[in-house]
Amino acid sequence: MIILPKSAQTIIDTLKKAGFEAYAVGGSVRDLLLGKETKGWDFTSNAVPEKILELFPDSFYDNQFGTVGIKIRKQFTADSLQKDEIEDIYEITTYRSEEGYKDHRHPDKIVWGKTLLEDLSRRDFTINAIAFDGKTLVDPYHGQDDLKANLIRTVGDANERFAEDALRMMRAVRFAARFGFTIEEKTAQAIANNAALLTEISAERIRDEFLKILVSEHAADAVLVLKNVNLLHYILPELEVAFATPQKSPKRHHMYDVGTHSVMALKYCPSSDPIVRLATLIHDLGKPKTYRVLPDGVITFYNHEVVSTKIARDVARRLRLSNKQFDLLTTLVRWHQFSVDERQTDAALRRFIKRVGKENLEHILALRIGDRLGGGATETSWRLELYKKRLEEVQLQPFSVSDLQVNGYDVMKLYEVKPGPIIGNVLDALFAEVEKGVLPNEREALLSKMNELKSELTK
Ligand code: ATP
Ligand code: MG
Repeated sequence: MIILPKSAQTIIDTLKKAGFEAYAVGGSVRDLLLGKETKGWDFTSNAVPEKILELFPDSFYDNQFGTVGIKIRKQFTADSLQKDEIEDIYEITTYRSEEGYKDHRHPDKIVWGKTLLEDLSRRDFTINAIAFDGKTLVDPYHGQDDLKANLIRTVGDANERFAEDALRMMRAVRFAARFGFTIEEKTAQAIANNAALLTEISAERIRDEFLKILVSEHAADAVLVLKNVNLLHYILPELEVAFATPQKSPKRHHMYDVGTHSVMALKYCPSSDPIVRLATLIHDLGKPKTYRVLPDGVITFYNHEVVSTKIARDVARRLRLSNKQFDLLTTLVRWHQFSVDERQTDAALRRFIKRVGKENLEHILALRIGDRLGGGATETSWRLELYKKRLEEVQLQPFSVSDLQVNGYDVMKLYEVKPGPIIGNVLDALFAEVEKGVLPNEREALLSKMNELKSELTK
């Protein structure tokens, strides 16, 4: 027994009272049947947009696809701050029957459908083609059976459906990745047949689907699925070739090829940030190009992080990442090889923090955790833990002259001078001592050192 939330039932009832048919449909019904929380409710109705707009005062025409959005406001309760806070937007789409997909991505024209069945027939997968009005489940493609069998299967002929809209191939992988489902055999075969059609899809849409895949629960498996159904070749060819680069060599712990290692690193990366996960997936992709075997059989990838960074730039541009995402991706890849050796000086740690950026330390550590566990490393991470602690400690210490507990006014006062180059010289000298660790960044100590320097300077 499934029950619609009250707000969803109200929308259906309002439309029905006005003489229309109305059903919840798509992802929300699927999630309800799975017992999972749903993101937003979608409805389908034979009412045309103009009629829907009349029935709901809080509605607005969303786009050219016949979708009306309704703002659902939070119930006013004692603990809700604002009466008018919008909780969600529910979407009502008029029954559609789409015809003609010449460019493999958009229907040439939208035609209103006459029946619910017509509308369900143009939906992508059986599990997304179930309608529910609060009483009756309409499930002509046996989506419930596929939900039970954990299968992603197209509505109708898979080859035709992917030829209509090539992005559906990535959606299939995304839903599989989200729910831990398998792509049904004929559907998977059809993806493999039509993979090249992905070239017709805009980079932005590919990016959005790919990033959603990377943050889903079964992301690592999904990347392997992308490879197996040939889609990876059109999304991230640099990863596809990496599966042919071995890493196993005497005295090295690496047991996986570069491609498998990349996927394993993604699997173990604890971050939920899509760009951090992408960085983790591609951090080693410079390895195929820097692969060398030494005379003793040891495999090396000298400077691979530099080549990986070049690839990261290509990937960021290809996927049309924002400038901020570009910077994060390339920074993480560029510095992923950082050493956690406990013999490093504070100054070295500080240099590292400056390069990576304070705000990205957590991200690069997440990449490192994925990298380590995804490399089959068995050693404990005490070094990494120690390094993390030191990173925190070092951040409490001064980073630049301006962080010193004394400033230019102190110098002017003590030296009885006007502003001039000597002030900078004195502060620089103090900073060098603090950075070396021979002088604490405490006011008393700094002032007395300043005094010492004065007698030296005025000798
Ligand atoms: P999510 O929880 O990620 O939003 P969803 O199933 O709701 O998943 P949407 O992209 O919001 O996915 O689309 C809503 C519904 O519209 C889908 O369930 C499906 O029935 C239909 N749909 C969306 N995109 C397509 C497409 N490219 N081809 C056919 N049907 C589609
Ligand atoms: Mg949705």
